[in-house]
Amino acid sequence: MSEIYDVVIIGEGPAGLAAGIYAARARLNTLIIEKEKAGGQIVTTDEVANYPGSVENASGPSLIDRMVKQANEFGAEVKLDTIKEVELEGKTKVLKGEKGEYQAKTVIVATGANPRPIGCPGEKELRGRGVSYCGTCDAAFFEDMEVYVVGGGDTAVEEGIYLTKFARKVTIIHRRDELRAAKSIQEKAFANDKIEFMWDSVVKEIKGDGIVESMIVKNKKTGEETEIFADEEDGTFGIFVFIGYVPTTELFEGKLDLERGYIVTDENMKTNIPGVFAAGDCRAKSLRQVVTATADGAIAAVQAEKYINETLND
Ligand code: NAP
Repeated sequence: MSEIYDVVIIGEGPAGLAAGIYAARARLNTLIIEKEKAGGQIVTTDEVANYPGSVENASGPSLIDRMVKQANEFGAEVKLDTIKEVELEGKTKVLKGEKGEYQAKTVIVATGANPRPIGCPGEKELRGRGVSYCGTCDAAFFEDMEVYVVGGGDTAVEEGIYLTKFARKVTIIHRRDELRAAKSIQEKAFANDKIEFMWDSVVKEIKGDGIVESMIVKNKKTGEETEIFADEEDGTFGIFVFIGYVPTTELFEGKLDLERGYIVTDENMKTNIPGVFAAGDCRAKSLRQVVTATADGAIAAVQAEKYINETLND
């Protein structure tokens, strides 16, 4: 543990990459630490239609590839490690990872969020065995089969539409009788012959011996519980869960100010600790999109530079 970085960014999604691009371009000694692979949630998206300047049919992975290339070209260093402990107070921040310790003058937290699980029996055991949280990753396994999508927001309905390219039938299970998704997205789903809806319903249990074979769905209005079985010929079906996200912020509990688990910042991405910034989906804010994540990252990097110049270089 010798080098003291100007900026260490935790997370290599759009927010972390934008912060890396801005920080490295400002000639700050910049390290991005990622625990798995670059991209965050956007790499699970087949089409990024609303990011300004997106080319037609631009996928999440292709957008991220370009951001990674850009960050690398400006000189941001990337390390694969999982941070387990942080010491954020004081002039030098210390991040303890599984593989090493890192010191930094400033830290930008861009840890994002993870899909919220249903929390019912069988879900965990059958994850990756019929239960999925990513259409782009797993849709192809359900070619010409039946799939169920849980949720009623933009993600659930968009992913439901995407899944019709593979599955023979997609049933959206929603806990109310009205979708939360934007009207434009709803219209596309209602016009799609392959999509059906199961209203006022929640998944109570998922069953199967090594693979999803059935699930119990409860109608919230009538209280009736129905067990849905896989078609005999298929032997299984897919359950795609899109019921929102949980911020990845456990590491900062008791250290940074949190609101419902999201990191509280001001409009300059400053947290309650000087020199520590947060950007992207892990931050308390009203719109979680690539465009707001990248904007957060850029602001955080510029503010980190300002903090170093004004506070540490006197
Ligand atoms: P979301 O808007 O929070 O919607 C979550 C959905 O899951 C809601 O329909 C909710 O039901 C349901 N739900 C929540 N907890 C549940 C539970 N325990 N059991 C069953 N159902 C549950 O999440 P999202 O769709 O992932 O979207 C997240 C953000 O990304 C939103 O701001 C969204 O606008 C944005 N987004 C935008 C686009 C786009 O612009 N193209 C695409 C994807 C996402 P209720 O409706 O009853 O609350």
